[in-house]
Amino acid sequence: MGKPTGFLEYPRELPLARPPAQRVADWHEFHDHQAEEALRDQGARCMDCGVPFCHTGNLLEGMASGCPINNLIPEWNDLVYRGLWREALERLHKTNNFPEFTGRVCPAPCEGSCVLGINEPAVTIKNIECSIIDKAFDEGWVKPEPPPFRTGKKVAVVGSGPAGLAAAAQLNKAGHWVTVFERADRIGGLLMYGIPNMKLDKKLVVERRVKLMEEEGVKFVTNCEVGVNYPAENLLKEFNATVLAGGATKPRDLPAPGRELKGIHFAMDFLQANTKSLLDSNHADGNYISAKGKDVIVIGGGDTGTDCVGTALRHGCKSLVQFEILPKPPLDRAPDNPWPQWPKVYKLDYGQEEAAALFGDDPRTYLINTKQFVGDENGRVKELHTVRIEWAKDNGRFQMRDVPGSEKVFPAQLVLLAMGFLGPEDQLLQKLGVERDPRTNVKAEHGKFATSLPGVFAAGDMRRGQSLIVWAINEGRGAARECDRYLMGETVLP
Ligand SMILES: Cc1cc2nc3c(=O)[nH]c(=O)nc-3n(C[C@H](O)[C@H](O)[C@H](O)COP(=O)(O)OP(=O)(O)OC[C@H]3O[C@@H](n4cnc5c(N)ncnc54)[C@H](O)[C@@H]3O)c2cc1C
Ligand code: SF4
Repeated sequence: MGKPTGFLEYPRELPLARPPAQRVADWHEFHDHQAEEALRDQGARCMDCGVPFCHTGNLLEGMASGCPINNLIPEWNDLVYRGLWREALERLHKTNNFPEFTGRVCPAPCEGSCVLGINEPAVTIKNIECSIIDKAFDEGWVKPEPPPFRTGKKVAVVGSGPAGLAAAAQLNKAGHWVTVFERADRIGGLLMYGIPNMKLDKKLVVERRVKLMEEEGVKFVTNCEVGVNYPAENLLKEFNATVLAGGATKPRDLPAPGRELKGIHFAMDFLQANTKSLLDSNHADGNYISAKGKDVIVIGGGDTGTDCVGTALRHGCKSLVQFEILPKPPLDRAPDNPWPQWPKVYKLDYGQEEAAALFGDDPRTYLINTKQFVGDENGRVKELHTVRIEWAKDNGRFQMRDVPGSEKVFPAQLVLLAMGFLGPEDQLLQKLGVERDPRTNVKAEHGKFATSLPGVFAAGDMRRGQSLIVWAINEGRGAARECDRYLMGETVLP
């Protein structure tokens, strides 16, 4: 343990973010780095508690408590406090292939279960993680590490999101020849075309890691949709094993009257086109859905909705409202949400912070439901008819009820549906004939990751449903381990 009294001496401090009203003028990442001395003080706040919970990664009440990839957090906090950055990097890479992704965009369930967080603000674990890996890249410590030998086995990975990338990195480490198939034109899955650039830089951060993996021997094939322009059955003929990591990208729709009007889009269509156009041409090609000058309504209060908010603001929207069907969360943990559970508390995320800076308030409106979309004479959406709702228990289950007299009309020329995802797309899975679970995800037990087809494994959102990057990395690593065991009879992977 670094400094026994660190947590008493130093308050929690995060690096400054660029002011919201300024950063909406560009697409660059918005967090600055902290000075090394400040980071050491933050590392010193870690108490090296007898029983740390930050690295446990258990599910409590269905939510992650602690780090799902079991990062060795107290160890690298201590190493950072002592200025031993290279050793901290080694510890970090033992459990996490991509700390530069999680250090930027993980919601940090580790911090929700930090013991210091019981009665003081938690240790800044996520920021320390990000600082270790960013320093390591700056210092040139992160180099391609091709495996010392090759087994001669060939493995296909379908999908290049964090699950596919983690599986590929681990299988390559074990000496197998890995080919990653991706239907998009760029590698990264939702790291590339879901999360916007201001949260996770594509060229500087995502493509840097992809290049390293290429140099280590992983082969990437883009613009190749398995089951469409590469026959699904070839996977089984041409490779010794396969890892399915195609994500869960089927969006939840809102089948209200008027849904067919122009100007109503799924969030992912908006976000994906925006990032592609930004990367292809700095938006000069105009191949994106623009929010400029429009009244925008984002339906859905989660991460995807927040990314739509941040993106629409950068386009220069006229106004912005975000609908949430649930009540506003409390400022502090409710009695039925004790530590070390994931804290279900009110949070002003980056997009809402930016909207508040531009328009004066958090754009979220809670307990609201859309009854109807109304269009103009050209078939374009012009307004949303809504009603307030309340949740009441009926037969032991919460049911939604309209509040009489609470109807309200909102103007909107652009509506973005960000209400979550229903599971993986069917085409490839049907062609392969792989078994599904009741939620339509690929059926495979966590920890084993084996599907109903011999030699075919599943990982990430395709197996567990839409989740988090850190879970995708957990599953990609686990599927690689089991795949290696299948190929070799035993495994060298953790
Ligand atoms: C807008 C948005 C923002 C998010 N923000 C966060 C966040 O801030 N923090 C966080 O932790 N999580 C976030 N998430 C969730 C997180 O991105 C996902 O849980 C994670 O990316 C899942 O990883 P994956 O590898 O399983 O799938 P994905 O990242 O979805 O990757 C699957 C890939 O497979 C490809 N594919 C599918 N079928 C085929 C096929 N037949 N042939 C070839 N390729 C195929 C797809 O094109 C895709 O590239 C966000 C999700 C969204 C939608
Ligand atoms: S990956 Fe996420 S949960 Fe794990 S240490 Fe990093 S921020 Fe915390």
